[in-house]
Amino acid sequence: MSTAFISVYDKTGIVELARVLSQARIDIISTGGTARLLKNAHIPVQEVSDVTGFPELLGGRVKTLHAKIHAGILYKRDEAQHLKEIAELGIPQIQYVIVNFYPFTTAIKKDLSTEEILDFIDIGGCTLARSAAKNYPHVTVVVDPTDYSEVMHQVQTMGSTSLVLRKKLAFKAFNLTSYYDSQIARFFQEKFHIRQFPPESSIPLYDYSPLRYGENPHQHAALYGDFWNYFQQLQGKDLSYNNILDIDAAVRTLLEFPAEKAVAAIFKHTSPCGIGMGNTVTDAYLKAFETDRESPFGGVIAINKPLDSSLARLLSEIFVEVVIAPEFEDEGLKLLQKKKNLRLIQVCFEKLPFPRFVIRSLFGNSYLLQEPDTILLDQDKIEVVSLRKPTQKEIDKCMFGLKVVKHARSNAVVFSDSDRTLAIGSGQASRVDAVRIAIEKAKREGISLQGSAIASDAFFPFPDGVELAAAAGASVVIQPGGSVRDKEVIETANNHNMAMLFTHIRHFLH
Ligand code: 5GP
Repeated sequence: MSTAFISVYDKTGIVELARVLSQARIDIISTGGTARLLKNAHIPVQEVSDVTGFPELLGGRVKTLHAKIHAGILYKRDEAQHLKEIAELGIPQIQYVIVNFYPFTTAIKKDLSTEEILDFIDIGGCTLARSAAKNYPHVTVVVDPTDYSEVMHQVQTMGSTSLVLRKKLAFKAFNLTSYYDSQIARFFQEKFHIRQFPPESSIPLYDYSPLRYGENPHQHAALYGDFWNYFQQLQGKDLSYNNILDIDAAVRTLLEFPAEKAVAAIFKHTSPCGIGMGNTVTDAYLKAFETDRESPFGGVIAINKPLDSSLARLLSEIFVEVVIAPEFEDEGLKLLQKKKNLRLIQVCFEKLPFPRFVIRSLFGNSYLLQEPDTILLDQDKIEVVSLRKPTQKEIDKCMFGLKVVKHARSNAVVFSDSDRTLAIGSGQASRVDAVRIAIEKAKREGISLQGSAIASDAFFPFPDGVELAAAAGASVVIQPGGSVRDKEVIETANNHNMAMLFTHIRHFLH
């Protein structure tokens, strides 16, 4: 005689299912509330305590956690020793476990004390589901009322369930218990202010909203975590996956600069097109834009001060996908609202916590995890390695370039003045190519590199990059140093009367 164990919080559809099981001559064991409901529907039911010979303990905390119940679920139907023990001890042969849990996630949203919330952590129900799912070759576990109809259909037509269905239901059970536990872990982490590395359960991989698509329209995608706590969309189409990456890159770059100055960052495909700093946002934007007037098409623009009407007027002349600012002044907002599709994003700089981890996925379920690159060189730690000492003005230019090159994909170089980028070359497999591209871009834009600084995210492995930079007019180089050919590289700088500064800090970004 087979038995079904039924213990459900959400009682939707349970009477119907129990009736079908009962009609198929399956005995039913049930917990208090569920048993009462089934009895009222005239379905024969045994109470757990009648089976275990033990009362519900601790005011119901321990109802089903009993050897008789779990052995009845977990025994292997094809193992003689198991069958012998079951028979000797009069243990019920439980073939169906229908269970759903106390609604923990609903409880934490309510205004309850921690103690009251703890009462919503289901132990017995999850244990029933895990036991049954583990023994799926013999046991059917149902944790989702939407699966009742399929189970009823199979029981009515075949007298039991198929192995295919049991496998699917076992997956669903473990999927649910892992999700359920992750919610509890997250609650504890927040409640008890727990920080850990690696984060494990602290990566909020369950709190997400779907995106229209990923990098390309045929890729499904979603945004996980608390992004919208720091950003607010004022208008425009939904943010795309690529928009979000560019917003992140642009805003992180802004954070390098002093808050007193107005700074503008233009990004496309996570590469900086130009960064400018000035007394007004318009001034900053123009400096950024002039670096490269071609690439911002379809890009994102982030500023660190309120967007006013003067900048709004300039922005309405070009096609960008996203504008990010801490505030939008009424006049400026009105002007930009004419462009219905333009996404306007308000960022809350004060609230913005630095990301704790940078995560990249690999094959299978493997991930690379690292801390973000939050270091910036302290000016006093600069080592001058050239014969000529840099002027303060040259150091200022270097510091500006360094802040930008940190946010450009490797290999990257940035030619800069003290308040703006002049030319950027990034994402190259060879450093000298990055220099060539930057110089080419400057030529195209009619920008003079005479007296500029060149910042490099990592050392120059050969003198060629410095040679080209000198020929283009750069007077000072800032780089980490550390190449086996440092001597030759420094000599090249000396030959051109350039100043060269070592930072000893590499800023690779891949
Ligand atoms: P009922 O309404 O039948 O009295 O209780 C059903 C709920 O009890 C289900 O949500 C089930 O997950 C949960 N449950 C199952 N076993 C135990 C147990 O041993 N202790 C407690 N507190 N709840 C359990």
